[in-house]
Amino acid sequence: MAVISFKCPNCDGELIFDPAAQQYKCEYCDSTFTQEELDKMTPEMCTEQKIDDTSDGTQAEETETQDAVVYTCPSCGAQIITDATTAATFCYYCHNPVILGGRLEGDFLPDKVIPFEITKEAAVKRFLEYVGRKKFVPKAFFSKQQIETISGVYFPYWNYQADVENVMQGEAKKIRSWTTGDIRYTETKVYHVKREGVVSLSNLTENALQKANADLARGVMPYDFDKMKDFHMGYLSGFLAEKRDIEKETLTDKMQNQAKLFTDKMMRSTISDYNSVSIEDAKIRFRGENWSYCLLPIWTITYKGRDGKIYYYSMNGQTGEICGELPVDKKKLGLVSGAVSAAILILGLIGGFLS
Ligand SMILES: [Zn+2]
Ligand SMILES: [Zn+2]
Repeated sequence: MAVISFKCPNCDGELIFDPAAQQYKCEYCDSTFTQEELDKMTPEMCTEQKIDDTSDGTQAEETETQDAVVYTCPSCGAQIITDATTAATFCYYCHNPVILGGRLEGDFLPDKVIPFEITKEAAVKRFLEYVGRKKFVPKAFFSKQQIETISGVYFPYWNYQADVENVMQGEAKKIRSWTTGDIRYTETKVYHVKREGVVSLSNLTENALQKANADLARGVMPYDFDKMKDFHMGYLSGFLAEKRDIEKETLTDKMQNQAKLFTDKMMRSTISDYNSVSIEDAKIRFRGENWSYCLLPIWTITYKGRDGKIYYYSMNGQTGEICGELPVDKKKLGLVSGAVSAAILILGLIGGFLS
């Protein structure tokens, strides 16, 4: 298991990702480095630092346990205690960033990442503005100490795309009434309606971490997925990161269902100008399904209320949108969260006059 850190070539200080400059910065000598420059550096790697402190001293297999795992800080040698899903953290003693590279290898290597764009200072300012507007946020939330606990965390998500082929058929009615003299006439025209099309859906996104508050993980959507980048360990430097513990197989039904509902709604919206529509048959086929594992940036604060309950506040680390558990904005918790980009490629339209 490797513990990775990126060292400044000028002073050997730790390099961290700077959201404002979208570059790497040395906190000690203020040198900055681009992604290209970082790619050329060999990260400092300490392997086999894991210490088994639980049993008889034999090396514990990290993958087999959900328990805390202990690492040694590459900067100061102190022990770092992590839980099973931690992928990046800070040393409690020297505050240097520590990336647990081994947690992000093989199948767990993220495909994509959206780097933080909101700095910690900006995040704190926005949070204060936000809670200042909410009368029912407890006073303790304003304490400087509380605000200082704000953390930038990369959360794991599954990102799904697919072409959804849909053939739907049904019956639609147009009803017209009029009166001539003493007689009231009603004319009902019945149409057979059919819609056939392929809807290309991308960026359907689902939380991939069990312990994440699902509503909040979804509530900070949408992200600008156009700015998604290929994953690089360096982006995690200076932040916390979690690795996924939910596999895509467990989300397939849910994703397909969302894609189906979205496609269905989109195609139904093209059947207009009728008094009633009833769809009798819809054949759905998924083509070109593609999953990518991505890390998305969230600023989080947790707050313990007087009732003893833990409240979570989170902010989209790219756009600054806030989602809090107390003042939940229901709109943002919508099914597809507006993050879906869709395009109809083919739309056949057959409307037959039956009677
Ligand atoms: Zn330096
Ligand atoms: Zn340390």
